[in-house]
Amino acid sequence: MAQCAVTGARAGLLHTPHGVVETPVFMPVGTQGSVKGLSPRDLIEQLDLRILLANTYHLYLRPGPATIQRLGGLHGFMSWPRAILTDSGGFQVFSLSGLRKVTDQGVLFRSHLNGDAHLFTPESTVDAQLAFGSDILMALDECLPYPASQEAARQSVQRTLAWAQAAFRHYHERIQGLERYGALFPIVQGSMFGDLRRHCASELCELDAEGYAIGGLSVGEPRAVSLEMVELTAPLLPRHRPRYVMGVGLPEELPEYVARGVDMMDCVLPSRNARNGCLFTSRGKLIIKQASYRDDPRPLDEACPCYTCRHFSRAYLRHLFQAGEILYASLATLHNLRRYLDILREIRQSVLRGDFPAYLDAARSATASEQPAEL
Ligand SMILES: [Zn+2]
Repeated sequence: MAQCAVTGARAGLLHTPHGVVETPVFMPVGTQGSVKGLSPRDLIEQLDLRILLANTYHLYLRPGPATIQRLGGLHGFMSWPRAILTDSGGFQVFSLSGLRKVTDQGVLFRSHLNGDAHLFTPESTVDAQLAFGSDILMALDECLPYPASQEAARQSVQRTLAWAQAAFRHYHERIQGLERYGALFPIVQGSMFGDLRRHCASELCELDAEGYAIGGLSVGEPRAVSLEMVELTAPLLPRHRPRYVMGVGLPEELPEYVARGVDMMDCVLPSRNARNGCLFTSRGKLIIKQASYRDDPRPLDEACPCYTCRHFSRAYLRHLFQAGEILYASLATLHNLRRYLDILREIRQSVLRGDFPAYLDAARSATASEQPAEL
């Protein structure tokens, strides 16, 4: 592992049962076992993606862990030969499911699909993720909305710690005799309270996990607060284990998280924004529906080597978007994900070269002077 001498940035290798992943890494989200609009062939041939994220909550409800396991696990089911990280389902239960009851045992909730009652426990979510065959499994945690009171956050940290311990006990029993299995990561919670985050992180270190996540961020708090929580939590986690910040962020935030010692990130932003007409370029955001692109023969981003930028004009992409064509979503998603992956590759190279501080300075001044209207 290489580490920046000035900031907390690191460059390393994450070993999984389905290949080695260079870090820092951005993981595109494939909620339903599919990165919307792109085939695994696109993800491999066009993006050389090494790892993606899928959502336990959605796949647990439909088609269900037993079905997926019978059909070759998630890798076989979705025909994806590289690494998969699945979340614990906690975040969706707390954000999507209207009716829910949290107890020390787990969380009782109603499916957003048909209202059926389900119970997620630390043990059942490990079982579901083992059935999926995930390369990285996440322990069930309680994710609070923002803002939360200190007392609510304190109770939630206690519950998250108890659930993590239960998840690890169950995981260690279940992997006995298994030939191949993924790593289980616990999640640091604590809302926006530094002391609770520190307490949670130090307790979770006792689990001697193969990696650690920082969760409960990107829930509506100001960006400066998310960064502050990461800045004080990351250094408390074991140096030789990957650190994953869940649910971030904007392109300009990626180097900021890496500078604070983060190795892994995921977000729906690049794919969701692509579908909504917001493209990320090396010169800032581009809103494709704007009339100024109607006759624009240039690619989205002249500096981008992606398939979309090599073959199609802004005018054509705007036309597809306006006409509601499916092809628009594929081409736009391909570009936005390429942009995110390229940012992380540039960051990794700069850490390896030893000039990440200069990269960070340049990225900050580019953000400060960004003029999207002039694109
Ligand atoms: Zn492109």
